[in-house]
Amino acid sequence: MSSINPYEVALKQLDNAAKLLRLDPGMHEFLRTPKRVLTVSLPVRMDNGRVRVFVGHRVQHNDARGPYKGGIRYHPAVTLDEVKALATWMTWKCAIANIPYGGGKGGIVCDPHKMSVGEIERLTRRYAYAISDIIGPYVDIPAPDVYTTPREMAWIMDTYSALKGQVTPGVITGKPIPIGGSEGRGEATGLGVAYCIREGGKRVGVKLKGADVVIQGFGNAGTFAAQFMKKMGANVIGVSDSKGGIYNSKGIDAEKLIEYKAKYGKVAGFSGSKQITNEQLLELDCDILIPAAYENQITKKNAPNVKAKLIAEAANGPTTPEADEILFKKDKLVVPDILANSGGVTVSYYEWLQNLSRDYWDHETVVNRLEKNMVKAFNDVYKTAKDYKVDMRKGSTVLAVSRVVEAVKERGIWP
Ligand code: NAD
Repeated sequence: MSSINPYEVALKQLDNAAKLLRLDPGMHEFLRTPKRVLTVSLPVRMDNGRVRVFVGHRVQHNDARGPYKGGIRYHPAVTLDEVKALATWMTWKCAIANIPYGGGKGGIVCDPHKMSVGEIERLTRRYAYAISDIIGPYVDIPAPDVYTTPREMAWIMDTYSALKGQVTPGVITGKPIPIGGSEGRGEATGLGVAYCIREGGKRVGVKLKGADVVIQGFGNAGTFAAQFMKKMGANVIGVSDSKGGIYNSKGIDAEKLIEYKAKYGKVAGFSGSKQITNEQLLELDCDILIPAAYENQITKKNAPNVKAKLIAEAANGPTTPEADEILFKKDKLVVPDILANSGGVTVSYYEWLQNLSRDYWDHETVVNRLEKNMVKAFNDVYKTAKDYKVDMRKGSTVLAVSRVVEAVKERGIWP
């Protein structure tokens, strides 16, 4: 991860939107400040019998439109400012998707790759216990993010349910299907990204059939984005993960690469491909670039060398504000994170609706609703960007902020 502070990036984006909206200074300040920030210490008995203390955060940015919503990240480089940025982006993302949630986010400073399953379970349950007073199905509903999966969601659901004495599937989304997970949740982020690319492609003349695609990050968001790109007729020519990148101008078989990564824990070395660095990957000659890893990957340094016409941000915060300006001037279409990756939280919302009603939907119902919602969100953002004569990042933030402001004004400031 880079040294650029993602929270400063998030605030800069808000400031840009506030200027365009001529936002009242009090309202602006209100939106710059998370409503609640909780930091917890998490003692965990490790397999060697010793106790290690981890640090976890849960940030609740804004709940004007509904309960806080946002994932939990496990990573050694997690910082409070990163979690604050991600929580702020969640507020905007839920507003763009027009689902009745506010924004929150969680994170634990840890390296799950160096921990046993038992240690990860004890850490997860301790975190669930430590934040249990401020989450709940009508309060704050976490979900997976980097290096957390349905497995961790199940442990959190179980711990919370045990503490409250009631089975409470609606406290968390991204769960395994047998305990209240939704059909289609696993692929939702990648599928939503693919819908945005399809819609964006129509606006900038990028035909999906035969288009060359490069993907940075091959986890939940990246693998599904790769599969849907292939289904839509595009050709994935470059992929990377934390251990390096691969390139094959003739195309990389996403399904086989998933099997390869499951076996070897990396994409590097995949047959028929050439090894490249993550830096080279972002500058490959291609039509579509999908950053699906971390923040601050496209910066003022490499933005001038980005060849893709269309950049769809599966990751949160992969492009810095300076890079945004450069890409806009170069006539690139950047489909911003809060729109491009909103498929995940949208299907999380469907999962929550199903949990609250105890009425479960089939896969087709989920996917049809997701497609309709993504296309509407894309069109709303595109129109706002055109109306304000700005890029889609500014357009999306302006739209999101105006929706949140509307809700704050309706509810009023109390007392
Ligand atoms: P994940 O843990 O499943 O995958 C992360 C991937 O990034 C892994 O393949 C990892 O090897 C790779 N990676 C790590 N460091 C890298 C580096 N320096 N260069 C290239 N690749 C690197 O996580 P995910 O859920 O796919 O999340 C990825 C991004 O998408 C994050 O920004 C996350 O916030 C965002 N996102 C995810 C979802 C979701 O539903 N999973 C929803 C919205 C946004």
